[in-house]
Amino acid sequence: MYPFAYQRVSSAQEATAACQGEARYLAGGQSLVQAMKLRLSAPERLIDLGAIEGLQGVRDEGDALVIAAMTRHAEVAASPLVQDALPALAELAAGIGDPMVRQMGTLGGSLANADPAACYPSAVLALNAQIQTDRRTVEASSFFTGLYQTALEPGELVMAVRFPKVRKAAYAKLKQPASRFALVGVFVAQTAQGVRVAVTGAKASVFREPTLEAALSREFSAAAAKAVKLSPDGYAQDLHASSAYRAAMVSVMAAKAVAVAQARSGS
Ligand SMILES: Cc1cc2nc3c(=O)[nH]c(=O)nc-3n(C[C@H](O)[C@H](O)[C@H](O)COP(=O)(O)OP(=O)(O)OC[C@H]3O[C@@H](n4cnc5c(N)ncnc54)[C@H](O)[C@@H]3O)c2cc1C
Repeated sequence: MYPFAYQRVSSAQEATAACQGEARYLAGGQSLVQAMKLRLSAPERLIDLGAIEGLQGVRDEGDALVIAAMTRHAEVAASPLVQDALPALAELAAGIGDPMVRQMGTLGGSLANADPAACYPSAVLALNAQIQTDRRTVEASSFFTGLYQTALEPGELVMAVRFPKVRKAAYAKLKQPASRFALVGVFVAQTAQGVRVAVTGAKASVFREPTLEAALSREFSAAAAKAVKLSPDGYAQDLHASSAYRAAMVSVMAAKAVAVAQARSGS
């Protein structure tokens, strides 16, 4: 690890003022510190967001839940508000990594990091969430721009994410057994505007799957999802799985998610 300075701030204004040049925000350090240890990242200064009160917690806004950026995965998983209004999101958070990762990792850090196999980006995209930063609101559809790439500008601070409530939703993940990241993760949401299906782990960045969305809009059933055969073109291929396997597993995970969503709603 290269040497770096450390600054703990107590407000969002102090954080953005401090985040100049080669400085980086520090959330739970679950990705950033690993990258620094491997010398893949060499920030000169870390701006620790941990003491900013306004960046914690879950708020119910009637038709949506607003989750602050520094809310840990374990808090989302255990939140009665999330369990009641968006149980799919609580289950997703409960399935991230291991207990230590869930105690330290944050929603904002996960989104800013934009790991291609991270779970939260699929929920953000399928639920058509909005990412609120210190300077604007970014729609989910334009937030994730590529491999570890987002629409965030240098020094832009994720403050919170607004998740609209939906009729039915669920997330199903085929885990990479060593890391527990998604080899393929599929978030299915039945919204008032139609069915949205977002896939993580299968390409360079999270994406919506239009063929599955069309099939599930016609018939919201596990059988309808399973019947969809996707082309492996453009899918990721690595030592863990071929592109053909990943493409096949998208339909399987979508079917699993639909079955969970149906069972939860009693239909
Ligand atoms: C062993 C292991 C297993 C994991 N398994 C999973 C899994 O199954 N599923 C999954 O989804 N994730 C998984 N993760 C990722 C983990 O859940 C964290 O969400 C992710 O690593 C981000 O960590 P963090 O929140 O501590 O952010 P940090 O590591 O502190 O920061 C990550 C990046 O985001 C930036 N950043 C942080 N907060 C903000 C903000 N508010 N505004 C702007 N930029 C910000 C930082 O500057 C940095 O560039 C795993 C991680 C580990 C180490």
